[in-house]
Amino acid sequence: MTEVEFAFRREALRRLEFREEVEAALCDLYLQCDPTDHPAAWGDERIWAELDERLSTHAGWPLPRGEIFQKGVIAMRSFVLEPMSYGTLYLAGDAAHIVPPTGAKGLNLAVADVQVLASAFAERYATGKSTALERYSSAALERVWAAEHFSWWMTSMLHRFPDSDAFGYRMQRAQLAKVISSTALQTALAEQYVGSPLPGAAAYGKVSSPRGRSRTLADRAGSAPDP
Ligand SMILES: Cc1cc2nc3c(=O)[nH]c(=O)nc-3n(C[C@H](O)[C@H](O)[C@H](O)COP(=O)(O)OP(=O)(O)OC[C@H]3O[C@@H](n4cnc5c(N)ncnc54)[C@H](O)[C@@H]3O)c2cc1C
Repeated sequence: MTEVEFAFRREALRRLEFREEVEAALCDLYLQCDPTDHPAAWGDERIWAELDERLSTHAGWPLPRGEIFQKGVIAMRSFVLEPMSYGTLYLAGDAAHIVPPTGAKGLNLAVADVQVLASAFAERYATGKSTALERYSSAALERVWAAEHFSWWMTSMLHRFPDSDAFGYRMQRAQLAKVISSTALQTALAEQYVGSPLPGAAAYGKVSSPRGRSRTLADRAGSAPDP
């Protein structure tokens, strides 16, 4: 069973993911920090202090301690490479698209790509027809853009941005308040968090994000590595 909780504070986002496995309780804990930080700068005590500070809902709220056995600093970004094919080269998963982890969509997208691609290969080798392979990129991209939008939206709502001002902060609070008070918005969020059935997803338009990018294979070939 997995339970996910988000905490939004003026300082930064927390995402907690509790995974009950056998008799042990494992938690993924995400703290927003400076992406240039080195994990060594985040000793266990600093992490616990930050979690206590940012997660407590009332004085004396107890946060149970446990062993921290893995730490990492992950730069977040949105990225889509389209089309996801070039001739007979087909891209799937993170090779073709990256989402910020706020929506927990990366692995799910990779699996969805592979499912669509596998059935296209099956058709190709069973019938000799390449129709599904030719449609692979556009079919996969429907889901990809939907997930990009969801992850971007969750991040825009829950993260603190260094270039944001007081107005931006109030906009985030207003968006969050709407979600918290609206059953319709909560249903929409839950629907997108769970994800669409395979194959084919709700068609979203191309999302233009100030933090996201869309590039072509040709662009990528002639450019510097992604930051
Ligand atoms: C901390 C963290 C938390 C995440 N949480 C979630 C989550 O909750 N839900 C979710 O859906 N997604 C999550 N993701 C994203 C998810 O892990 C990725 O989107 C997913 O693993 C992408 O799968 P992939 O197969 O495309 O790439 P990868 O899983 O990166 O697999 C690529 C493989 O190729 C290998 N490889 C690379 N180069 C070569 C080479 N030259 N030759 C041979 N092998 C090579 C690599 O070693 C690797 O094993 C998270 C990611 C991180 C970092």
